[in-house]
Amino acid sequence: MKIERDRVVKIRYTLEVEGEVLDQGEVAYLHGHQNLIQGLEEALEGRDEGESFRVQVPAEKAYGPYDPEGVQVVPLEAFPEGAEVVPGAQFYAQDPAGNPMPLTVVEVQGDEVTVDFNHPLAGKDLSFEVEVLKVRPATEEELLHGHVHEGGHHH
Ligand code: ZN
Repeated sequence: MKIERDRVVKIRYTLEVEGEVLDQGEVAYLHGHQNLIQGLEEALEGRDEGESFRVQVPAEKAYGPYDPEGVQVVPLEAFPEGAEVVPGAQFYAQDPAGNPMPLTVVEVQGDEVTVDFNHPLAGKDLSFEVEVLKVRPATEEELLHGHVHEGGHHH
């Protein structure tokens, strides 16, 4: 079965950035519902079960360009009490609409904390090695929810 919109696709992948393996594993996703980064989903369109391929995904079709304005200084007291605020630590802030905004601590100087709201992979070109393990039609319920019900999905 070929990969097209509303099919559930299981892939095995290896993600490399600047020649370094950052992540590998298996994931099942609902094709055509923006559940994967754009460049990877485009590369999977029309592929068949058992196919293997390698694809370069530019930052614009992955996690977007790096935004220098994403780096901000916030007061230490803005963090939860007792939180370990150290370089590299990740937290969630909320935007005015209440949506979670992940951030990474860059530097701590006294009561001032420099944080970066950019995704850690923003501005990076990604390289994927992909194997298409399985393709099946989505169930009614999966289409209604816009995601896959497989492997640890709870409601
Ligand atoms: Zn669901």
